[in-house]
Amino acid sequence: MKNQESFKGLNVLVLGLAKSGVAAANLLHSLGAVVTVNDASPEEGNVEAELLREAGISVLCGGHPPGILDKGFGLVVKNPGIPYQNPVVQDALQRGIPVWTEIELTYRISEAPIISITGSNGKTTTTTLLFHMLNIGKKKPLIAGNIGTVSCSVAEKAKEDNIIVLEASSFQLMGTECFRPKISIWINLYDSHLDYHGSFDAYADAKFAITKNQLESDYFIYNADQPEIGKFAASTAATKIPFSLKGRTDFGISADDDNIYWNGEPYVSRSIIMLPGQHNLENILSATAAAILSGCDKIAIENVLSSFTGVRHRMQFVKEWKSRKFYNDSKATNTLATKSALTAFKGPIVLLAGGLDRGHSFEELRPYMSNIKAVVCLGQTAERFAEFAASCGVHDILISESMEDAVHKAFSLSSEGDTILLSPACASWDQYPSFETRGDHFIEAVMHL
Ligand code: ADP
Repeated sequence: MKNQESFKGLNVLVLGLAKSGVAAANLLHSLGAVVTVNDASPEEGNVEAELLREAGISVLCGGHPPGILDKGFGLVVKNPGIPYQNPVVQDALQRGIPVWTEIELTYRISEAPIISITGSNGKTTTTTLLFHMLNIGKKKPLIAGNIGTVSCSVAEKAKEDNIIVLEASSFQLMGTECFRPKISIWINLYDSHLDYHGSFDAYADAKFAITKNQLESDYFIYNADQPEIGKFAASTAATKIPFSLKGRTDFGISADDDNIYWNGEPYVSRSIIMLPGQHNLENILSATAAAILSGCDKIAIENVLSSFTGVRHRMQFVKEWKSRKFYNDSKATNTLATKSALTAFKGPIVLLAGGLDRGHSFEELRPYMSNIKAVVCLGQTAERFAEFAASCGVHDILISESMEDAVHKAFSLSSEGDTILLSPACASWDQYPSFETRGDHFIEAVMHL
């Protein structure tokens, strides 16, 4: 670990008792900081709170005690989900106390270089792809973020010859100060999380933090097909590696229908790629560029491209049965993600969709409904989705109460060569505790067919 001494004796307030808060509190405590953890929810039954206290960390739950910041804190580490309107965060900022998320801590203590990945969609897929490439290429990667362990815990153990592959959300990036990845990736930028950031510009600015401290010796891999991102590329000092899906380019990484090109030269044939979907090509180009820049050999990269079929619940290929291919895209909790899924398949699709009703419109999907052969609607939005599908000219529409029944119905509406796709365009909370449970249920039902 680097900079261990710099936290000794520092009075730190950790806001939020979620996974990242617990990890940050334990780490800072072990580095000799005086740590207080504060969470607005009640302590009852919170095992973590008890464990932290046993370790000698002060824990205050059930609200933010008035004047909590009068205790002379020199640093606040906040859970990324806590909004900046939170009164303690506001007060800290007014007093000039730095407010970090734990990825700043990760950067400060990590001996290993960091490759960080952001974007509105595709972070987990890109992170996973890159991790596999580096792993097969023997680069000793450690995965951190959503799909892995909390990043500061990963950094605690990382050595110089490791590479940390870190998925970073805009919420996390907002809480950075010196964060400087060796390679940063910005996959794409869409309207998202505007309730948190307040505006599209504020959201984009938060994402820019992934590259703002980079120097010329670092690399910034970015989506050159999106002018909104290109604008930011102009203001980074990093060496820029653009990616484009619009045909061969002389510099950076690009793709046409046949090949992926590295600096204008054919690198690999697209025919070897297993992961379906034009949107996944963004993830593939970014991960491939980062793997090349990290010194991975081509064999390792080809190996992953020709075997990786998707991250669980994200356009995950489940199985082929009676000449139908089943895909689980349960993570598609909004219309944008479902739109990507629908564009990924050329042949007829039997779509399973619907879930929590947030009152959102499905109109955005209309241009992509032409190859939908039939729809099975689930959850709170079942009726609404059925009406929408009918208005798009889909004739075979069924409503289902359970996933098993939905999978059976989808199969009965399909023919040989069809794709049967769960891509709900809605969150799962009306019927499931998480999109993962919903996806697992789908897989189970498919396996039982
Ligand atoms: P994130 O971690 O950013 O949420 P994931 O890789 O988990 O992204 O994918 C989330 C959803 O977005 C999935 O339904 C997936 O099919 C879709 N998706 C993945 N990559 C992209 C991309 N580059 N552009 C648009 N949609 C994408």
